[in-house]
Amino acid sequence: MKEKRLTILGSTGSIGTQALEVVRLLKYYKVEAISANTSVDLVEKQIREFHPRYAVMMDETAAKDLSLRVADTDTKVLSGMEGLCFIASLPENDLVLNSVVGMIGLRPTLAAIEAGTDLALANKETLVAGGQLVMDAAKRKNVSILPVDSEHSAIFQCLQGNPKKDALRKIILTASGGPFFGKKREELQNVTVKEALKHPNWVMGAKLTIDSSTMMNKGLEVIEASWLFDKSVDDIQVVVHRESVIHSMIEYVDGSCIAQLGVPDMQIPIQYAMTYPDRVPSNVKPLSLTDYGKLTFFEPDLDTFNCLKVCFDAARKGGLYPCAANAANEEAVALFREEKIRFLQIGQLVEEAAFAHQMPQKYALEDVFAAEQAARAYVRSHCR
Ligand code: MG
Repeated sequence: MKEKRLTILGSTGSIGTQALEVVRLLKYYKVEAISANTSVDLVEKQIREFHPRYAVMMDETAAKDLSLRVADTDTKVLSGMEGLCFIASLPENDLVLNSVVGMIGLRPTLAAIEAGTDLALANKETLVAGGQLVMDAAKRKNVSILPVDSEHSAIFQCLQGNPKKDALRKIILTASGGPFFGKKREELQNVTVKEALKHPNWVMGAKLTIDSSTMMNKGLEVIEASWLFDKSVDDIQVVVHRESVIHSMIEYVDGSCIAQLGVPDMQIPIQYAMTYPDRVPSNVKPLSLTDYGKLTFFEPDLDTFNCLKVCFDAARKGGLYPCAANAANEEAVALFREEKIRFLQIGQLVEEAAFAHQMPQKYALEDVFAAEQAARAYVRSHCR
């Protein structure tokens, strides 16, 4: 296999560390650059193992600390958003994996696309906040966006071999339902951060785990799927599937449904984005359906998990409404993790902030950040 050069944005998070597992397994990837926020210890280890040309720390102090620690290596340490966009746009990159958390991933996503590099996208907030900009740029630059999110990877896999876009009638996104499935609002009043951080099936970073507990994650994924597969959100159905074995499905116009199944392990979608269109052996344990015995499916409860409904509504309103909903959620989740607001306030604040301001339908990058700031400010000033 020909050597391929990979840059990982967010190399110390759940997706980033698993992608490096895949690099160890596949042998033909050379890590060109990595980035993290503050995890200097782990980045130092990664530098000593993978010898990237560049490492970026978003935090200035962490960058200074790291550059002293790795002064004996050939890795150059950079910092901040400028560093992140620089490594995303290196001409040597064959693939950029964007696994940063939050819409802060938007600029480096656009930087990679402008450089003409294919993108493995795990940063869903990028598409939610600025989907039109990202998809337009990808089309203009003829860049592939390979989905890493398990549901979108599933849809992408189900679509392989299918010729025509209009043959696809519906996307069926599966949702685990999170730790609070079956609960009503009254029962969720006193939810603690610790309880919201317990996911039944998937091991993920904190922000994503909280988003799963509110089902905001599924709402963001509906919008992500709408951009990636060019479908209206009205053609996307969410089904709660507690076992997380079917990672999503598609329905063709002839009524045939195709599903992608596997054990819930992110290595499969990460590896597929890195080997596409090839398939190579992985370390993932095979699926044993008889161990499960049965698979179950339920309607989502949109009253309790109103974030999911807000995302559908925001997507229907279009423009920067999804961006506002996402930014409000990022702010509200941060406040919840700091124990400054209660669990149910996340959904309330997201719903209010998403529609508090008039949002433009057509937008440029600076409008995205203005919408973000307005939504964040709304949440901060209404959180008491
Ligand atoms: Mg997902």
